[in-house]
This record gives sequence, structure tokens and C-alpha cells, in this order.
Amino acid sequence: MGCDVIIVGGGASGLMAAAALAGQGYRVALLEKQSRVGRKLLSTGNGRCNLTHRGARASDYHGGRQAVQAALKRWPPKRIEAAFGALGVPCVADGEGRVYPMSRQAASVLDALRLACDERGVDTLTDFEVAALARRDGGFEARAADGRTIRGRCALVCAGGLAAPRLGGSGSGYVLLKGFGHVITPRFPAIAALITPPGPVRGLKGIRAEGSITLLVDGEPQRTEKGELLFAESGVSGIAAMQLARGVNEALAEGRRCAVRLELTEAPVDLAARARNLPKRPLDDFLNGIVPKRLGQTLVKAAGLDLSRQAATLTAAELMRLRDILTGWSLPVTGTQGFDQAQVTAGGASLRDFDTRTLRSLRCPGLYAAGEVLDVDGDCGGYNLQWAWSSAMIAAEGIVEALGNGH
Ligand SMILES: Cc1cc2nc3c(=O)[nH]c(=O)nc-3n(C[C@H](O)[C@H](O)[C@H](O)COP(=O)(O)OP(=O)(O)OC[C@H]3O[C@@H](n4cnc5c(N)ncnc54)[C@H](O)[C@@H]3O)c2cc1C
Repeated sequence: MGCDVIIVGGGASGLMAAAALAGQGYRVALLEKQSRVGRKLLSTGNGRCNLTHRGARASDYHGGRQAVQAALKRWPPKRIEAAFGALGVPCVADGEGRVYPMSRQAASVLDALRLACDERGVDTLTDFEVAALARRDGGFEARAADGRTIRGRCALVCAGGLAAPRLGGSGSGYVLLKGFGHVITPRFPAIAALITPPGPVRGLKGIRAEGSITLLVDGEPQRTEKGELLFAESGVSGIAAMQLARGVNEALAEGRRCAVRLELTEAPVDLAARARNLPKRPLDDFLNGIVPKRLGQTLVKAAGLDLSRQAATLTAAELMRLRDILTGWSLPVTGTQGFDQAQVTAGGASLRDFDTRTLRSLRCPGLYAAGEVLDVDGDCGGYNLQWAWSSAMIAAEGIVEALGNGH
């Protein structure tokens, strides 16, 4: 079978590019290794799909920022929102600028893309894991593990990254691009829970608290995030904590020491006044109401205080120690969760090997790439899907330019 464009990977970027190219009359073969396209999309934004962020800027991304800048300029969030509107999915934003489908259902986003691909005649082949991609007769040949082959004039690699293998994450996109001489930068999990020694957080699994978290590298504050913190078996999760994973992995790879400082009060609390008002309160319950009870007990213990004492017995120095823990509890960080649990991959195919205007490979004519397989990762909040959609559109436009209108 011959087509104009072979797209490897039916995830966010592959579906978007396929719909765009088929909409312009190109014959597209969309090859997906799983039995369904877009499985990861269904899990995004806790099933609601935070599909872009209205305030996205290149500084919200890491890796090939120049390419991000070009993509945001041509396909800014409002144009992406309009594109989804045209596909039948009106979008709404929350107070922070995070954009969701009006239905608040990730399935709506996937359905819209899938239906657009079907309506426009995309040839979607599932259970087709591309094991090899090679130049053949001036075009490309994709070969599946079972020996099936597909030929096309151009190839677009949208195979994603290593994050969330249960939803399709794999390293095969890197292998395919490496085969054409592309440089792959070191990859590590970004947006993942932080791992601390189990001792300090023991017993806090599942407890949530509002506050802020600061990453300290060799004792120096690097980045602070506010929001809900979720304690885990041996670490801290929640969006605020997960945003720091990239910085942790970078610092640990350089052999530097990491810790986080947690501020667990949303507003100033006068503990001395509290002790005067509640003199008989055992320390067991002293912080209950400011933070969840079990967390309060852990903080009292972390301040070196006996839970059975009464509030009235606290000295000024002890109250100060407790306040310092409540507003700046430090925990060493030994790592982050791995790719299994991570939301996105930092690193990937270097943008130095691509024309950032078209995402055309500078190593092999007719080859393109988009999405997470490239060395771009964004913060949590819709930035990664914004990159997936906008890079897919840039690559699709690049392919149209290369193939011309006489297809
Ligand atoms: C749990 C979770 C929640 C997330 N929530 C958000 C969110 O709310 N907002 C946000 O912006 N980002 C979110 N992300 C990140 C976002 O989903 C990804 O960055 C985005 O999907 C990347 O798009 P992609 O097309 O590059 O890769 P993917 O969407 O991962 O698609 C790649 C596809 O290629 C297929 N594939 C891989 N190798 C081959 C091969 N050799 N042959 C054929 N097919 C292949 C895979 O099966 C997969 O379907 C989340 C990620 C996770 C894991």
C-alpha cells in the first residue's frame, strides 16, 4: 500500500497531524501499536483533559525552547482552542488559565480527533507497532514486528516518550529517529512524585494539605510551587510537588543534594496564642484544625516534642521550633518516581537536528517528528498537550509545503 504520509503513533500529536493532513486531501496512514488510538489522552487531566494553557509561554518549557517559541507563535493556545471548537469541542478555562473541553471529558477530545480522522479518510491501523522505518525508493517504508509493511512519501514520528508505558509510552520513537542519525538527549522523568526516606512521612499516606513546597539543591532554594500536597508511602505527590521532579532529577544526575521545604499553613498562625487559648490540649491534638490530625502529630514529633504533653507546658523556644517545622518542614529527596508513574519525559530527539519552522529532519529528507519524542517538556497545566498539538500542526504544515498541492 502507498500513501502520502506515514504517521508513527496514534496519540495526541499523531491524531492531530493525521486529521490536519487528511483534511487537506493527503492520504495518511496512522500506525498505532496499541489496539486503540489515543489511550493516554483518556487519562489526561484526571480524565478531564487539560488540553492547553491560555498563558503558555516558551519559558514554561524545557529543552528545545526555540522550537516551542515558533510553535506557540504559529499555533498559540487560542488557535488550538479554536481548532478544537471547529472539531466540535468548545473549550473553557479555569481561573488559572487551564483549558478543558466544555464536557470536562477527555473522551470528548479523543472522539473528536478520531471522528475527524475517520471522516477525512485517514487509514488508521491499530496493533501496528513500527519496528523499522527505512528510506525506500525516495520515500519511506514502515515495517511492523509481524512483517506487514506500509509505504509513504513522507514519515512523521509521533511515537511519544517513555512516560506511562501502560498507556503506550515507549522508547521506540527514539530508536527509529536514531536510525536516521538523530541525536537523543538524556531522558528522565519530569512531572512525577518525589521520593523521600520513608521515616519522616511514615503514616501520612493519602493525607492532603494545602501549602507550598520549595526545592532546595545543596541547600539553596531553586523553585517554589503552591497548591495541594499529597503525602505518599514514601514521598510527596500532588501537582505542586510533581512540578519539582524535573529539577530533582537534573540535580541528582549532577551529584547534588536535594531536599524540599514544606510550608503547611496557608495563613500565619500564632502558636503562642493558641497555646494560651488551649492550655489543656495535648500536643497530640495541638495542630489539629490547622493541618490534618495525623500530619499535626508528625510535625510535633519532628519538632522533638512528646505528644502526651499539654500545650501550656510549651516553652517559647519549643513554640518557635514547632512554628519553624509548620512553616518550613525539610525533607531530604532521594529521587522521583520512575517513568511508570511519570506524566512526561524530559529530553528526547534534539531539536538541533530539526528545522524548527517545519519540524523537518535535517538528517533525512522527508522525515518529520512532533510531540513528546522531541526534546521538549512543559510544566503541568496543559503545556505538554499544547506542545503535542502545536508541534503536530507545524509538522503537518511542513509536510504540505514539502509535498506541494499537486498530491
Ligand atoms: C496520566 C497522565 C496525565 C496527563 N495529563 C496531561 C494534561 O492534563 N495536560 C497536558 O498537557 N499533558 C498531560 N499529560 C502529558 C501528555 O499526555 C503527553 O505529553 C502527550 O500525550 C504527548 O503526546 P504524543 O503524541 O507525543 O505522545 P502520546 O500521546 O504518548 O502518543 C504516542 C503514541 O505512539 C504509540 N507508539 C509508540 N511507539 C510506537 C511504535 N513503534 N509504533 C506504533 N505506535 C507507537 C503509543 O502507543 C501512543 O499511542 C499527561 C500524561 C499522563 C501520563
